[in-house]
Amino acid sequence: MAYKGDQCDFCGRPGDKVRMLIAGLDGHICDECVQRAYEVMMSNSSESKSTSPEFVMRKLPKPKEIKEFLDQYVIGQDDAKRHLAVAVYNHYKRLKQTKDDEVEIEKSNIIMVGSTGTGKTLLARTIARMLKVPFTIVDATVFTEAGYVGEDIESILTRLLQVSNYDVPAAERGIVFIDEIDKIARKGDNPSITRDVSGEGVQQGLLKLLEGSVVNVPPQGGRKHPDQKMIAVDTKNILFICGGAFDGIEKKIAQRLNTHVVGYRSVQSTAALDRNNMMQYISPQDLKSFGLIPEIIGRLPILTYLNPLDKAALRSILTEPKNSIIKQYIKLFEMDGIQLSFDDEVFDFVVEKAMEYKLGARGLRSIVEAIMIDVMFDMPSQRKRSYKVTLEFAKSQLAKTNLGKLQSA
Ligand code: ADP
Repeated sequence: MAYKGDQCDFCGRPGDKVRMLIAGLDGHICDECVQRAYEVMMSNSSESKSTSPEFVMRKLPKPKEIKEFLDQYVIGQDDAKRHLAVAVYNHYKRLKQTKDDEVEIEKSNIIMVGSTGTGKTLLARTIARMLKVPFTIVDATVFTEAGYVGEDIESILTRLLQVSNYDVPAAERGIVFIDEIDKIARKGDNPSITRDVSGEGVQQGLLKLLEGSVVNVPPQGGRKHPDQKMIAVDTKNILFICGGAFDGIEKKIAQRLNTHVVGYRSVQSTAALDRNNMMQYISPQDLKSFGLIPEIIGRLPILTYLNPLDKAALRSILTEPKNSIIKQYIKLFEMDGIQLSFDDEVFDFVVEKAMEYKLGARGLRSIVEAIMIDVMFDMPSQRKRSYKVTLEFAKSQLAKTNLGKLQSA
């Protein structure tokens, strides 16, 4: 509490000449000095260290350790895991580089190509969790060129600030996962006829962020507005991981491989191609044919792919990861003192249904949920201490639900 006659110990102004005087143990500070001190702090933020304990990275894990961590949560996708592990390791090593080093290491933003539900988001999320850095997922489809209805590209950074509790230095070392990057591909080959609001313009906007620049970000999101206070965020050290299904890109890969190979040796090499999984041969040229602009491709130097999930992979996803769907249900029941178990055939049945409905790994959860709903409703009020899910039960439960009806449709 400040009394009459007190003054600000920073600027010396008396209490009655300022809007507010805040008393400390042994002095006072006025509202204007608080504001100024805050601004000084923010302007030096890139040099200052993050203060939030949840974002303190203790030791940078080696690529092998990163991959081992990913293996606990993500099934298969070895190629993507290795690329990610190395790129992330190099990225954070780069942040340790001293400013006067002659060899400046460039940023290694990543692009992952693979069908929906194969684990792209899961990989990015798991890495961020391991590294204890702020992480946000944005969907590229919501962005439009500045001035059009939709979200500004800068809102990506607003979200990153929000998850960092506005700890700017932490946000500046964060990871952004941009999903559905393929949806902002240029639609036609001639962009000049009509303005391609959701395509090339957005790619241009994104380029600025990927390259690394200081961007003024509206802290609460929404459109920029002249009276709003902005927070300056430097994107130089933010790692961008982009993901997309790139539906139909296999055709472009096949075309490239067929047209570029001439002569006897190449006929042999095309014969050796695995036609069921063309994604593994993806190259930056294919992204260009799909409609990403060369500048964007250049800023996403690490290109990797995810394999489609087969039956064996789906079966593993159901039971093996540290927080697998089945382990989660067992845990939920355990919390009520009930021991839940499953007949092995139930797992095969769930996988078969997921394949049949073409729901991929995302479908596993909805199918198990449909099987378990009645048991979850009844068991907590009963005295039984254990429950076993049989194949017969699983089949009858699924037949009752809307998911089951999908089958006959
Ligand atoms: P994408 O981003 O490729 O569309 P997600 O990473 O969002 O797919 O995957 C959807 C869900 O499917 C995840 O939450 C996860 O439970 C499961 N899943 C997908 N792929 C895998 C995988 N390779 N290993 C473990 N779980 C997976």
